Amino acid sequence: MPLLSEMDRNSAIALLNQLVTVGVDFKLDDQVTRKRLAPAEIRDLLVTDLPERSTGVPSVVQELVETVLPMCNNEASPRFLGFGHTGADVAALAGGLLALFAQQNLINQSFAAPSATFTEIAVIRWLRDLIGFTNPAVTDVKTVWDVGGVTTYGGTGSNTTAMMLARENIAPGTMHEGVTDATRNIVVPAGIGHYSVKSALEWIGCGGRVIEVPTKGYRYDRTALDRTLRDRQGEIMSVVAYTGDSRTHTVEDLRAVHDITRSIDPQIWLHADACWGLMCAFTPELGHKLAGIEDFDSITVDPHKVMDIPYAMSALLVRDPASLRLVSSYSDLIMQEDFAFGQVTPFIGTKEWSSIKLWAMMRAHGRRGLADLMRRRLITTRTFTGLVDDNPHLLRLNDPDMTAVVFMYLPTSHDPLHPDIERINTISKAIHARILDEGRWHFHQFSLPDDTGRIQQGATLHPLRFMGNNGRIAESHMRDALAYVTGLGRALEQQ
Ligand SMILES: *Cc1c(COP(=O)(O)O)cnc(C)c1O
Repeated sequence: MPLLSEMDRNSAIALLNQLVTVGVDFKLDDQVTRKRLAPAEIRDLLVTDLPERSTGVPSVVQELVETVLPMCNNEASPRFLGFGHTGADVAALAGGLLALFAQQNLINQSFAAPSATFTEIAVIRWLRDLIGFTNPAVTDVKTVWDVGGVTTYGGTGSNTTAMMLARENIAPGTMHEGVTDATRNIVVPAGIGHYSVKSALEWIGCGGRVIEVPTKGYRYDRTALDRTLRDRQGEIMSVVAYTGDSRTHTVEDLRAVHDITRSIDPQIWLHADACWGLMCAFTPELGHKLAGIEDFDSITVDPHKVMDIPYAMSALLVRDPASLRLVSSYSDLIMQEDFAFGQVTPFIGTKEWSSIKLWAMMRAHGRRGLADLMRRRLITTRTFTGLVDDNPHLLRLNDPDMTAVVFMYLPTSHDPLHPDIERINTISKAIHARILDEGRWHFHQFSLPDDTGRIQQGATLHPLRFMGNNGRIAESHMRDALAYVTGLGRALEQQ
């Protein structure tokens, strides 16, 4: 019988323990994936009818382990070099397992999440503290409007809440009255933004009114930003700065963006997307790159990307905790009690206790542990950077602020004075397609303006991206992976 209460206790424990073992071994596996099939083959295998008769729990577990899991990508593999969302922090896994069983609902404190609400508040305060926002004294935290942040399911949700705040800030009451002409544009850097900000505007009824400002070296061109803000004065509700854009992880000059914006229109909502930039706060070695962020109105952080915690957990932090009143909603269904997070989390009703994974991770590491973690990641990144720079077939496109190294394979015929952008891109895309096809290694790929002019200023390139976040990546992996990429490039050139 599937219900816990109906099953023999020891059999239930044995089955669930088996999954812990399988899960740990999966993460410790070196392979990116055990079994690769084409999407249509996976579809035909898994998109089946609901069985008429019950399947015993042991057989379901067997199916999960033997059929489904081998086709899953293992981002904790040291051969998975494109991201670093390992989800492999043991304390975080423990927190996640507890949350799975405890079944708390962060919508309300009193009857749905008595202690979970306060571990969540603690986590939000730790994040605020790390990034540079000041916290009120614990005894002054009397309601959810004294906390200064909310957790969401991802950077997309956090950015969307930030855009709602920007909208309400410029046109108070839009929540109730609907969008009017007073709702304005937002400013983003051209070519390097994350789609979530534009989508957010579309979802919240503002229309995708995005003004793209040219960049230099993957940061705002300050002269252009200044000119845009002056030319469009009164039409802009928010300026968004990437504290680590999602391609190169370049950290914006936040102080400059803040000063330019505030000097032209102090009403503009300043939002920093620090999905990646949170990593800078781990170590004093990088902390200075965040200078100025403490004066932004809101900051998105994405711990599930940078802290080895299992999905999904992000947070939106606000400089002035009370500003969350701008997007609060009240209902008799959500207890109107002081600590009910349901009142300040737009789009989210029932809410799992995701933050306990981060709570456990941060407790386990402490500040020093986070600094050590980041130091190791930087060493990995520097090693990779060196290997790319020493390889005559490869060219690095960014100077890493954090752990992202963007690089391209250069065909043997490459002439720096007359780069054949189309051929370089064709080969790079073909390399990436082969990498995905073979599934032995993983690098990420995207389109990117050549903003440092290392191949041709302004050209749209399709490079590969390495990320040094995964603690299991050793130098041998990096060497082997680059030899593989170079080998693929050579072979593709012959075709
Ligand atoms: C990944 C990312 C997001 C979106 O985060 P999700 O957690 O995927 O929703 C937003 N902004 C930036 C810069 C990102 O890299």
